[in-house]
Amino acid sequence: MKYRSTRANLNYQLDAPAAIIQGLSPEGGLFVPTTFPKPIFDLKQFKNMSYQEMAKKVLATFFDDFSDDQLSQIVDEAYGNQWDDKEIVKIAKHANNYYLELFHGPTLAFKDIALQILPRLMHTAIKIKQNDSDIIILTATSGDTGGAAMSGFKGQEHTHVIVFYPYGGVSPVQLRQMLGLKGDNLTAIAIKGNFDDAQTNVKKIFNNQALVKKLKLNKLQFSSANSMNIGRLVPQIVYYFYSYVQLVKNGEITNGQEINFSVPTGNFGDILAGYYAKKLGLPIHKLICASDQNNVLTDFFKTGTYDRQRKFYLTNSPAMDILVSSNLERLLFDLYDEDSNKLAQLMNELNTKGKYTVNPIVKEKLDQLFAAGFATEDEVETEIKRIFEKDHYTLDPHTAVASFVTNKYQEASHDQAPTVIISTASPYKFPETVFHALTKKDVKEKGIPAIKELNAFLQEDITGNVNNLIKAGNYQEQITEANEMENTLLNILDI
Ligand SMILES: *Cc1c(COP(=O)(O)O)cnc(C)c1O
Repeated sequence: MKYRSTRANLNYQLDAPAAIIQGLSPEGGLFVPTTFPKPIFDLKQFKNMSYQEMAKKVLATFFDDFSDDQLSQIVDEAYGNQWDDKEIVKIAKHANNYYLELFHGPTLAFKDIALQILPRLMHTAIKIKQNDSDIIILTATSGDTGGAAMSGFKGQEHTHVIVFYPYGGVSPVQLRQMLGLKGDNLTAIAIKGNFDDAQTNVKKIFNNQALVKKLKLNKLQFSSANSMNIGRLVPQIVYYFYSYVQLVKNGEITNGQEINFSVPTGNFGDILAGYYAKKLGLPIHKLICASDQNNVLTDFFKTGTYDRQRKFYLTNSPAMDILVSSNLERLLFDLYDEDSNKLAQLMNELNTKGKYTVNPIVKEKLDQLFAAGFATEDEVETEIKRIFEKDHYTLDPHTAVASFVTNKYQEASHDQAPTVIISTASPYKFPETVFHALTKKDVKEKGIPAIKELNAFLQEDITGNVNNLIKAGNYQEQITEANEMENTLLNILDI
């Protein structure tokens, strides 16, 4: 299978290992298959598969330049005993909906699902391509991606992860995770500035041709670990398949019955994987796109106009605080029948005018496939409390966004389809907000003490990965000026 860019013509094609190493297409587009695979979902085939077996099947469908043995090793290492649950993901039923828990990995958020796979794919891709440069994964993070990338790439030969995060701008737990992972091939550095400063400077560094040349002379090259990398997207299709099969096996739904998935959305990677699952034959009725106060996607689904010119809010669901959802580009590429000229034009409008509008045919397709809504910070806390009082089940703020939006959608639409709410983080990753939602009191001290305080309130057993976090020591932050990021990078790489 070959890959192409959403913004370039079909002449430019790469195989999967090259697309994974490169991350982004040079003209700014995202890699997608030149021919989308035929449907593979068939209950008979998938019914008796473990999570790992399903992952191998899905990865083999997209990444056929990797041998079965290579994929098998990648999956077994990625989904091994660094997870709190052998099954990798779990489903809970509460208040008439299903919660698909994707947060039992090392950094307690769903990004582990893909970021335990991607580094191993990249490592193998380097071998397949006989790439003689080491890969520098350069990442700006508002919190979750940094820790998950560091955890995934820890100890991977020929890779080095360098994470820039806003000083004072990530949660105490996220900070602890990143600093606790520092060492060997992993670096996390605070910058004096906000997430956008970090992101803007990372993009500048990526596009600095003199620097890229200098790296090349030193046998180094950049790549990216965010969800624009196709190697991060494909592993996320698996849990849509897996949860459906479990619901059939448990007698909750019948084979072939259409269900909804409700997805707390930021960069649109998670929900796009759901759309791909549907294209691969999974009976999905609606994908519910849930946003926080940064509700640019809610407006887009309502009006057909994507307008990023608006106030940016820092909310209690920080991983969803985003105004440009990159993976929407892959969806539009599909709905515009793979018209890369049109996509290049729309994305150019987004850059220059700050907005674009889709045509009525595409709007109609969006209406068929998606529902959308958003939750304010207060609504998030109310939802955490509602579900807890109903069922003694604790949601993290991101999952609560989706839970709130789902409930509202079900009331308004009378849609009776069973609904799976994607649960993207452990409540212990955001203990300050969850504790406040449940008790109306602030925690005594943020960070690790807040985890303990929440746990004392919930009176439940703590899992291994939460415990690892509590045990992690204290580490010194390394801080740099935003305009010094490039020099800091050169120092780290010693070139
Ligand atoms: C990254 C993240 C999201 C958003 O996922 P996207 O794929 O960017 O839409 C939601 N919740 C949590 C906890 C996350 O870390």
